[in-house]
Amino acid sequence: MSMKFKQTECLRCGICCQKGGPALHGQDLALVRGGYLPMENLITIRRGELAHNPLSGTIEPVLSELVKIRGTGQEWCCCYYEPASKGCSIYGNRPLACGVLKCWQPEETLALVGQDLLSRLDILEDDDPLRPLVHEHEQLCPCPDMRDVEKSLAEKASTILHSLESQVNSDIAFRDWVVKEFNLPLDLELFLFGRPLFQLLQAFGVHVSESSQGLKLTMRINSLK
Ligand code: SF4
Ligand code: SF4
Repeated sequence: MSMKFKQTECLRCGICCQKGGPALHGQDLALVRGGYLPMENLITIRRGELAHNPLSGTIEPVLSELVKIRGTGQEWCCCYYEPASKGCSIYGNRPLACGVLKCWQPEETLALVGQDLLSRLDILEDDDPLRPLVHEHEQLCPCPDMRDVEKSLAEKASTILHSLESQVNSDIAFRDWVVKEFNLPLDLELFLFGRPLFQLLQAFGVHVSESSQGLKLTMRINSLK
């Protein structure tokens, strides 16, 4: 007779941390302000970007922005994860969502989804000179609903590539201007402005190349409809 294994505690496998860092909640503001979670280690997922919704189990456009701990290199694996020990380098100061996570009993985690999320403007102090830049970027370069973009690209890319190209170039021009004008460390860019639009489009088969007029977008051959 085979016995089915029933998990009752954390096995310290590290899989949850490898899947990505947590979104931050109100309680985590003290960790940011206390210097345990510097802004350089955070990334903003802007409204409109696609993300996994643990409640529905599907990939959906984010309805209001969230700030997460960033990944490592090109991976989502949390930057505080230590592969050798399968441990957390900020264990005593880990965010709320990590503290409540029990993969074998997800109720507490699910109850946190979308609740009391921290945004960039919650995190930046009222007198932070970078604050107006976040507003300005949102006004000039809002993130489109990426599900709509994905659909339009799949149905008839030629109708929207031109307008996306202009949005991509405004986004990059703004980021370049801020880095030069304010001597901004590049590490802060993903927190302040989220991922550049051109990177989000690459996931939909958009090829990005440089030209004398800026970035040029084309569809990869195998993505053409
Ligand atoms: S909570 Fe689950 S996934 Fe995360 S380390 Fe523990 S056993 Fe692994
Ligand atoms: S902060 Fe620590 S516990 Fe939370 S995902 Fe990162 S490595 Fe894992």
